Amino acid sequence: MLTGLQSDEHTGMSVKQILIVEDEKPIRDMIAFGLRRAGFDVLEAEDCVTARARVVDNQPDLMLIDWMLPDTSGLELTRWVKKNEATSEVPVIMLTARAEEDDKVRGLEGGADDYITKPFSPRELVARIEAVLRRGQTVGAGEVLNADGLQLDPASHRVRGSGEDIQLGPKEFKLLQFFMSHPERVYSRSQLLDRVWGGNVYVEERTVDVHIRRLRKALEPGSFDRFVQTVRGAGYRFSTRAS
Ligand code: CA
Repeated sequence: MLTGLQSDEHTGMSVKQILIVEDEKPIRDMIAFGLRRAGFDVLEAEDCVTARARVVDNQPDLMLIDWMLPDTSGLELTRWVKKNEATSEVPVIMLTARAEEDDKVRGLEGGADDYITKPFSPRELVARIEAVLRRGQTVGAGEVLNADGLQLDPASHRVRGSGEDIQLGPKEFKLLQFFMSHPERVYSRSQLLDRVWGGNVYVEERTVDVHIRRLRKALEPGSFDRFVQTVRGAGYRFSTRAS
């Protein structure tokens, strides 16, 4: 996680660059105005094709992606960003007019780090952005962690299982890193939110379940998913012993 972009954060002097992907110009302008006033550097894209080019070329610190876009859906774009090796570390906040639970879960499963429902105030949006950016800073480098054939190297940001590379999203990586450095202990969802997400008040506890599911799926090939155990009524535990 210690990329060149993030090393600037320790000086506290870097200006964060936000890429806004929204086809409706008045809304895009309003968001851009609010973000610039809050001290962000702003890039804009009105469709997915432009957004893909911008995110690869500029490596922004965060993307705001509207759910409804003219060419591809915002959800598809989010999936693409998170799957693409060059962009998977870029946090995404989805802008949605849909308040239904299903859509929120779909958005998070698509890889979004957070979502915000329209209409929202510029102040609320800035608070969300700052919270997501803070979460990105909570991971520290450390020694290589080992658990029965599963290996996580924080420095190279690699996970290997039985000698094979395992691809994880940024949040799943952080979850696994936390679990592997705190084995044999049960953590509730809210404890995991505090420790892995950084205690953001806006994140719902079910978000943890979404990412646990994705982590287990990624660990399935070597049967390492058995290490991520559900403790009924209590939360989750990382253990190499049978549950
Ligand atoms: Ca739109």
